[in-house]
Amino acid sequence: MERNALQTDIQFLPGVGPKRAQLLKKELDVATVGDLIKIYPFRYIDRSSIIPISSATPDMAYIQIRARVTEIRLFGNKGSIAPEDVKFNTVRRMSVMVTDGTGYMELVFFKGIKWMHSKLKPEEEYVFFGKPAIFNGHLNMVHPEVDPAAGTSGTGSIMNSTMTGVYPGTEKLRNGGITGKVMNKLMENALNMALPDIEETLPQYLMLEKGLVPIHFAIRNIHFPNDLNSLEKARYRLKFEELFYLQLSLLKQKYVRSRNENGIRMPKVGDAFNICYSSLPFQLTGAQKRVITEIRNDMKSGHQMNRLLQGDVGSGKTMVAVLSALIAVGNGYQACIMAPTEVLAQQHFKNISRYLQGTGVRPALLTGSSKTAERREIHAGLEDGSIGIIVGTHALFEDNVIFRNLGLAIIDEQHRFGVEQRAKLWRKSSGGLAPHVLVMTATPIPRTLAMTLYGDLDVSVIDELPPGRKPIQTIAANESKRSAMFRFLKDQIALGRQVFIVYPLIFESEKMDYKNLEKGYEQVVTAFPFPPYKTAIVHGQQSNDEKKFNMDAFAAGRANILVATSVIEVGVDVPNASVMVIESAERFGLSQLHQLRGRVGRGSEKSFCILMTGNKLSKESRHRIELMCATENGFELAEEDMKMRGPGNLEGTQQSGLPIELNIASLAKDGLILNDARQCAQSVLDEDPSLSLPKNRILAEEVSHDKYRVRDYSQIS
Ligand code: ADP
Ligand code: MG
Repeated sequence: MERNALQTDIQFLPGVGPKRAQLLKKELDVATVGDLIKIYPFRYIDRSSIIPISSATPDMAYIQIRARVTEIRLFGNKGSIAPEDVKFNTVRRMSVMVTDGTGYMELVFFKGIKWMHSKLKPEEEYVFFGKPAIFNGHLNMVHPEVDPAAGTSGTGSIMNSTMTGVYPGTEKLRNGGITGKVMNKLMENALNMALPDIEETLPQYLMLEKGLVPIHFAIRNIHFPNDLNSLEKARYRLKFEELFYLQLSLLKQKYVRSRNENGIRMPKVGDAFNICYSSLPFQLTGAQKRVITEIRNDMKSGHQMNRLLQGDVGSGKTMVAVLSALIAVGNGYQACIMAPTEVLAQQHFKNISRYLQGTGVRPALLTGSSKTAERREIHAGLEDGSIGIIVGTHALFEDNVIFRNLGLAIIDEQHRFGVEQRAKLWRKSSGGLAPHVLVMTATPIPRTLAMTLYGDLDVSVIDELPPGRKPIQTIAANESKRSAMFRFLKDQIALGRQVFIVYPLIFESEKMDYKNLEKGYEQVVTAFPFPPYKTAIVHGQQSNDEKKFNMDAFAAGRANILVATSVIEVGVDVPNASVMVIESAERFGLSQLHQLRGRVGRGSEKSFCILMTGNKLSKESRHRIELMCATENGFELAEEDMKMRGPGNLEGTQQSGLPIELNIASLAKDGLILNDARQCAQSVLDEDPSLSLPKNRILAEEVSHDKYRVRDYSQIS
C-alpha cells in the first residue's frame, strides 16, 4: 500500500513535535494523524452569535462579545504594577477592561500573560469568547478566547465554520499547551493533510438508500460544521456506520454458524417432558410457552443452540430450564444446570427435584461441599448416564467430572462464570458435538444492548409474570424513620410474615462492610429480642454449612427475620417473606436493588420494599431511589440505569468480555439508529451472506478488520 497521510506519525503534524506527540499519545492514545481525526468533539459552541455585554448574565454557559479594550492593568504579589516596571515573571494577574457601548466587562488572565499582553492593544476591537461569572459584584470572564474583530469566523479557519468543536481535554494536555483552541488548529492541520487520503467506507448503494452523506463531508463537518444541519447529517452518517458495522460483524458470524450442521439433533420432546408438563401445579404463562417453543425449535434444528434467556426475577425461568433439560433427557442426553452460588444450587436442586417427581429422571446435586462418598457416586452416575440432570456450582468444572453424553448446558446468571470455565464445560461433551447452551439471566439487559452484546446469540425474553402477583410497594426512608420502620416490621411479623434485612457488601473483603453488618445485626436483635423474635444471619464469610443452616431456618419459617448481605441477591425463594428492607440503599446499583426487591412479592400477601438511605444523597443516588419507588419494571430500570451510567458499567455486561468501544454512537441514546442499522445489515446478508458481490467489496473489507473484536459466543460458551 502506498504511504498514506493517515498513518503519519503525529509528531510530524504541523504544530505538534516530539513533546506534544508524547502527550497526545499518553492522554488521548493518539499516535498517528488518522488517530487524531477519529477524536470527535463531544459538543459544539456556536460562535456565530455575538451578544451585547448588557444582556450577559453569569448563568449563561458561554458567550461571545465584540468589544474595545479600554484599559489593561497588571498585578504582582504586592498589587498593581506600573507599566514601565513590568517584569513578566513577577506578574500574577492581568485585568483587561472592555466595552461594546452597552456596558463594561473585566477580562482576567492568570496564565500566558506575556503573550496575551503583546496581543491585546488598547482601543482596538476584539471578539472575546468565554464563560461569564460574577466576581466582587461585577461581571467578568476568566481566560476568554481572543480573536481580532475583523475575522469573526471563529478561528479564522479555512473551514469557515461558525461552530467550534470542543474536544476531550485533560489538565495535562492544557498544561502542555494543547488547549481547546490548539486542538482545533491541530485538527484543521490534520484534515488539510489527510482528508484526501480517507477513502469511502460505505458502498454507494447503501448511502443512497439510507440518505447518508459521503465520508469526506461527514469527517469535515463533524470537526468543523458548516451549520447545524450539516453537523446533524455528519453525525447521523458516522453513527449509522459504526452501528451498522458492529451489527454486520455479529450477524455475519451468526450466519456462518447457522449454516454449519454442527448441533445435536433432538427431534422429540419425550415422555419425561410430557409427564412433567401435565402434572404442573399451574398453567404456564404465555411467555413461558413461547420461550419453550423457541428452545424446542432450536434443539431439534440440528444447529447448536446458543440462546440467552432473559426474564425478570420471579418470571419463572426455573420451569423453562427444567422443561428444556427434559427435552435433552427425552432424546437420550444429559443436562446440567449451573448456579453461581452454593445456596442457589441447593435451591434449584430442591425445586427441580419437586418438578421431576414421577418423571423417572434422576437429578443430582454437586457442589464444593458434597462429601467424598456422595461425590464418587455422582461421578459414576454422570459417567454411566444414570443421572439425567445435574445441578451444581463450579464443582461441575472439575476435571474428574465426566459426562456420558452432555446435550444441554444451562447456565444461570451467566456473568459470574468466566469464559475459560465455560470453555471447560464445552470439552466435557464426549460425543464430539458441542452441547446446546442456554444462558439465563435475571439482569434485564436493555434490548439495544442485548442486540449488541449478544448479537450472535438468540435472545428470548419472558416478559410476563405469573398471574396473581401482588405489586410490591416501595418506600424510601431515612434514619429518622427507623423506629417507625421497626414498628412496621413488628406488625408484619405479628401477621405471620417474614422479613429480609439486607446490608451492602460491595467488596467481599471490606472489613467495613462486615462491621456495618454486625452492628446492624446487633441493632436488629436488640429491637427484636428473643423471645419471641428469631433472627437468622447469612453472609459470605460463613461456612457453607452455617449458611445453609440459617437459610433453611428462614425458609422453613423458624426465623422471622433474615439479616443478610447481598448473597441473597439471586434466586432465593421464600414465598412467605413479604418485606425487604435494604440498608444503605444508596450504595447499591439499580439492577441490584431490583434483584433484591424481587425476593419478595412471591406469595399471595401484599409485599413491601423499604429503602433505607443516609440523609445526604448525591443527585444520582436520589434519582435511583426515586426510580425504584416509581416502577417495578426491570427493563425500564435497566434502560434508566444504562442512561445514567453508560452501557460499559452496567452490571452483567462488564464481565461479558465484549468491549463496547463505540466512538460516536451511544447504545443508550441511539436505539433507533441501531435498529435501522441492524435491519440494514440483516438485509445485506440475506442477499449476500458471504459479502462476495462486487457492490459489497467495501463491506467485506471493513468487516475483515474486525474493529469491534467480535467474539464468537458459540465457541466460548
Ligand atoms: P425466576 O428464576 O425467573 O426468578 P422462578 O423460576 O424461581 O423465577 O419462579 C418464581 C416462582 O413462580 C416459583 O415459586 C415458581 O414455582 C412460580 N411459577 C413459575 N411459573 C409459574 C406459573 N406459570 N404460574 C404460577 N407460578 C409460577
Ligand atoms: Mg431463578
